[in-house]
Amino acid sequence: YSTSNVRDGEVNVKVIVRCRPFNDEELKNNVQSVVLCNELNGEVRILQSIVNKQLDKLFPFDKVFSSKTQQRRVYDDAISPIVSDVLEGFNCTVFAYGQTGTGKTYTMEGGMESVKGGELSSEAGVIPRAVRQIFDTLDEQKADYSMKVSFLELYNEEITDLLVFNDSSRNAEEEKQRKPICLLEDGKGGAIIRGLEEEVVKSASEIFSLLERATPKRRTADTLLNTQSSRSHSVFSIMIHVKEPVMGDEELIKYGRLNLVDLAGSENVSRSGSREGRAREAGEVNKSLLTLGRVITALVEHSCHIPFRDSKLTRLLRESLGGKTKTCIIATISPSIHSLEETLNTLDYAFRAK
Ligand code: ADP
Ligand code: MG
Repeated sequence: YSTSNVRDGEVNVKVIVRCRPFNDEELKNNVQSVVLCNELNGEVRILQSIVNKQLDKLFPFDKVFSSKTQQRRVYDDAISPIVSDVLEGFNCTVFAYGQTGTGKTYTMEGGMESVKGGELSSEAGVIPRAVRQIFDTLDEQKADYSMKVSFLELYNEEITDLLVFNDSSRNAEEEKQRKPICLLEDGKGGAIIRGLEEEVVKSASEIFSLLERATPKRRTADTLLNTQSSRSHSVFSIMIHVKEPVMGDEELIKYGRLNLVDLAGSENVSRSGSREGRAREAGEVNKSLLTLGRVITALVEHSCHIPFRDSKLTRLLRESLGGKTKTCIIATISPSIHSLEETLNTLDYAFRAK
């Protein structure tokens, strides 16, 4: 894409909110809820009046899902149309944004055993459902296609390939010679990630087993907030070429790409008790999350300067954020009165992206 293309491109950003249910601990302690989700008119009401004398805050979004909403409905209502667009040749990206422990990974990947013996369970999240929809649609159309996937993690502005496994077939010497992954520019405004594995895949179950092996590789660090807390962003991408016969001997190739991004926790440093080493990580996390927000705002406002270059996350997603693209942000929140500040921060961030 040329810069002018990026500027003139149709910008399509949808922002949705999902509130998680109370967990057992919160239920046991009778924690009060400060979140009211109105699914019918897509509004979230934050009951600030319970905490202080301020008025309640009302946020309108494209869609709002209450804590009772099941994985399947989130997918069918909000994500399935985007995946159909990918098969029509769009570059689409879905982000999960929110405080640690609010359900980003649950929404993107799903709960325990979301895929059992190749079948999706009711707990399955966006990634396995998207994979299923893509293969079901291509099979139904008897399409001639080729597909590749990649899965990377961005941690402290460093890229790790989650699809490279230290198996016995690769010895230590080969392991040492692996070049670090680096992000280059292709001179046309796109990004080349040198050294990143792009695995050719032919079936949904092949992707499921890759994911099963890759997920434990995600780097996580314990913080006071949540032992599963993550300071890294993960980006799972599916690249699809579909060959379509047209009149005569010619062929039309449609290329679509889907990025499914589980962002790092949006909470601030002090709150999670982070210090020293962790503070640097948090700084980098903030930088990429802030840049992402600014990039989306600039795109929505058709601003002439889009600050893609200010973080690695936005550099590597650049091609998928401008031009013929669609973006969806799922902001995840907790209903708890104890998360009020973070919930307001999340909703402000998400609302600014609209
Ligand atoms: P995050 O990735 O944002 O840190 P997780 O996805 O790990 O949060 O969610 C934290 C906990 O809450 C997990 O045990 C998860 O299964 C549970 N959870 C989150 N959202 C939901 C939901 N909508 N329904 C049921 N459980 C949920
Ligand atoms: Mg997570």
